[in-house]
Amino acid sequence: MNSPKLDKLLQSCVQCGLCLSHCATYLVTGNEVLSPRGRLQLLKHWQNNTPDSDQFDALDSCIGCLACESACPSGVPYDLIEQGKSRATPGWRTHLAKPLSSPAVLNTLSKISDSGIGHASNVTPKSMSDGELVSMLDDLAGQKTVLRKTIGKTGPSVMLFPGCVNSTMLFNSQNRLIQLLQSAGCEVEFPRAWNCCGAVASHLDNHHLAETQHKQNLETDCDFIVVEAAGCGRELKEYAGEKVIDAALLLSKLNLELMKTHLKVAMHYPCHSLHGQKIVEEPKQLLNNSVQAIDPHEPEVCCGSGGTFTLFHKELSIQAGKRKAEMLTDTNSDLAITSNAGCLGQLANSLGKSMPIIPLTDLVWYLQTRSKA
Ligand code: SF4
Ligand code: SF4
Repeated sequence: MNSPKLDKLLQSCVQCGLCLSHCATYLVTGNEVLSPRGRLQLLKHWQNNTPDSDQFDALDSCIGCLACESACPSGVPYDLIEQGKSRATPGWRTHLAKPLSSPAVLNTLSKISDSGIGHASNVTPKSMSDGELVSMLDDLAGQKTVLRKTIGKTGPSVMLFPGCVNSTMLFNSQNRLIQLLQSAGCEVEFPRAWNCCGAVASHLDNHHLAETQHKQNLETDCDFIVVEAAGCGRELKEYAGEKVIDAALLLSKLNLELMKTHLKVAMHYPCHSLHGQKIVEEPKQLLNNSVQAIDPHEPEVCCGSGGTFTLFHKELSIQAGKRKAEMLTDTNSDLAITSNAGCLGQLANSLGKSMPIIPLTDLVWYLQTRSKA
């Protein structure tokens, strides 16, 4: 762990503390050790010492949301914390990467888990048909609408990367995304064979498996590989660059005609989209001519859903989710939207009955395919 390069990077933290108010684990605990600055201090300590279990836990409880990296004026990379975690991750966790990278296993886990991810299937599950979604949004918007078919002329060719969680728990939402892309003239293809994007293996420090999965998922001649889940998008983008595009970002570039409504919509930006891919204004601009899209207080702070974080640090995850839910309900909006299944489940669990939350693409589909009667 002791290296001049690492030492130089650690020295670049000037201890200003500007990252603290952006870190979800610090905000819910008030414990400096669970802040970016505290974790960097631990890494310095580890250069010459073996970490004990409490110290490992402090690093391991970092959600990996990257909010500290966006906030840091000295450019301290989040990767430092990731590297520190890798050093002490127990071997048994690394071996979990392969079974957990399976859509079938994730699907089963989602049914038996009471962590955030387990609730994605309660929000817009396979059972929430187009008709049910439309009826819910019609009620919220206070207007009855009719179905409109729009056929676009030209658009890019895209390969849709299904993703483990979206393809199993948000199957109907994925179909609505396909309809949207086709209505904007995109030629939509599916991968002949696909795997987990590699994010689970990366989280569990099995980098060899992650790299194999990246390669298998990216074989296509299409213009873009479109990904709805922010975590998968960031993972694949790191490997394949701009050919990989977030679904909300692509939709914002297409010429979609959206119906105007009086809906007030609270935005929740997934960390791996906001911090990991720097997608900031586009989803809001896409919606703003059609609904009133509102940022909650602290839009940059994580909701506490972070891949395997929800499994290993459930209590912290619940606290972060509740805090985010309060920020969303404080906007007094009709509904909340997000573009990531993990955030969706986490927030559905935390919001309870106080506010419905749906995928961003579902709202765009509604606004595109429904026109005023
Ligand atoms: S904002 Fe950057 S420089 Fe300041 S304490 Fe945090 S990591 Fe260190
Ligand atoms: S990645 Fe997120 S949880 Fe981890 S230290 Fe940075 S802000 Fe905190």
